[in-house]
Amino acid sequence: PSFSDLLLDKRVHEALTGPLGFEKPTLVQSKAIPIALQGSNIIARAQTGSGKTAAYLAPVLHQLLRHPSNIPGTRALIIVPSKELAAQVTRMAIALAVFCDFKVTNIVQNVAEEVQRALLADAPEIIVSTPSRAVERLNDGSLDLSDLICFVIDEADLVLSYGYEDDLLILSRKIPNTVQTWLMSATLSQEMDMLKKIFIPEGARVAT
Ligand code: AMP
Repeated sequence: PSFSDLLLDKRVHEALTGPLGFEKPTLVQSKAIPIALQGSNIIARAQTGSGKTAAYLAPVLHQLLRHPSNIPGTRALIIVPSKELAAQVTRMAIALAVFCDFKVTNIVQNVAEEVQRALLADAPEIIVSTPSRAVERLNDGSLDLSDLICFVIDEADLVLSYGYEDDLLILSRKIPNTVQTWLMSATLSQEMDMLKKIFIPEGARVAT
């Protein structure tokens, strides 16, 4: 298939094929994007290098464009296991959102806490974080997830192996149960079933 077959919002499509210069979707992109555009929750097995980042970022941007909000606030939260991945994902999100009017903020970058809070006060629509940093900002009141519509855990197997369970449980209680969720993992283990139980409401549509 080509990117046009995926029926992504024009602004997202143009970023993929223009500035990013991607010619055709990778396997995980052509499988996961159409299902995500239908609103289903996604549990995807995707290795690094498979194009997994754009496989969730493109539909996340599409959904944000389709469901605009009048209230400034966080609309998409992307959870990653490490600072390094946060930087990479943020770069891809900024590149993909080049034709959209969204602010993307990495809240695990090396800046002073007050700078972080100032960045959050600027009401970015898209936030990239580790679990612990997101919980810190929830606790100090600078992060509010009540208007969230998209929630992603990238490299979910690593997130769990780094011992972030408690933070994930706290996050799950702050996320509206109407959000669309992406769980991306290199392996589909029993731990993914646990994440599914925590983050995807019973009876909700989910595609693997
Ligand atoms: P990822 O698996 O998300 O870490 O992506 C691996 C690399 O593939 C990154 O450098 C992306 O920029 C690149 N990439 C993602 N999607 C495509 C695509 N459809 N065509 C060519 N390169 C891509």
